[in-house]
Amino acid sequence: MIKIGIVGCAGRMGLMLVREVLDGADIELIGGTERPGADAVGRDLAEVAGRPASGVVVGIDAKTLFRQADVVIDFTSPAATVEHAGLAAETRTAHVVGTTGMDPTLTAALGDHAARAPIVVAPNYSIGVNLLTALVTQVARTLDPSYDIEIVEMHHRHKVDAPSGTALGLGRAAAEGRGVALDTVWKKSRDGITGERPAGEIGFATLRGGDVVGDHTVIFAAEGERLELAHRASSRQVFAKGAIRAARWVAGRPPGLYSMADVLGLTLR
Ligand code: NAD
Repeated sequence: MIKIGIVGCAGRMGLMLVREVLDGADIELIGGTERPGADAVGRDLAEVAGRPASGVVVGIDAKTLFRQADVVIDFTSPAATVEHAGLAAETRTAHVVGTTGMDPTLTAALGDHAARAPIVVAPNYSIGVNLLTALVTQVARTLDPSYDIEIVEMHHRHKVDAPSGTALGLGRAAAEGRGVALDTVWKKSRDGITGERPAGEIGFATLRGGDVVGDHTVIFAAEGERLELAHRASSRQVFAKGAIRAARWVAGRPPGLYSMADVLGLTLR
């Protein structure tokens, strides 16, 4: 049995993860934490997720959770995730990170902690999106720069970061296919008199509304034709299932920073 802990266990993704772990035959839910003061603290973790009581209570002590678990799954906030990665390094526990909106400093800190613990980081744990990402690299490599690359994403109204981590990941994949660094060619939003679109730019457009789980379209537009690759998630469950797959894969691995492409063995890149 792989012992799983979930930080941020009463969040939208946390609750989904709790249910997935409870349903897994080879994985065991050994604990979960929340922010001090959160309603779920002190309550039965399974009950919070709408399941019969499991005897595991929601706590606030992440360090103990990291000590006891084989793998800790983390869909919280950027600041909390970096703190958690520090605990992963200290206790040498595998860490599966789904949190998005990490700035470069926080991402670098995560990389440092990965010297002492195996850490999987993915802006999107859906299998379909990870296949899309690999395809985008291939298409960008094949098409010449006369094809303008634009990435459109839509998410529910509660999302706090933009463009989505997945959209940026797709941009990175396209840039990699073109042999350039994304931050030298990206245009994260447009407003006002922007002037003509420069060749080689990778543009982003963000839509927010309702309960959209996550839509991403990558457009390659040239004079005379347009290729669109799209993915639509209709349930958050795909992210939870992907994160559990990553948890099974990373348990017992050597320290290092891993991606979902590593977990899935995607060699399309
Ligand atoms: P949410 O706000 O519903 O859940 C976050 C939870 O983390 C909350 O319950 C909050 O109380 C808890 N939390 C915050 N700080 C904490 C701390 N220090 N210790 C313990 N718990 C803490 O948000 P959500 O919709 O579940 O999304 C969480 C993150 O996951 C976001 O960054 C989101 O963009 C990302 N996300 C990633 C994927 C993916 O596939 N990688 C999919 C969906 C969401």
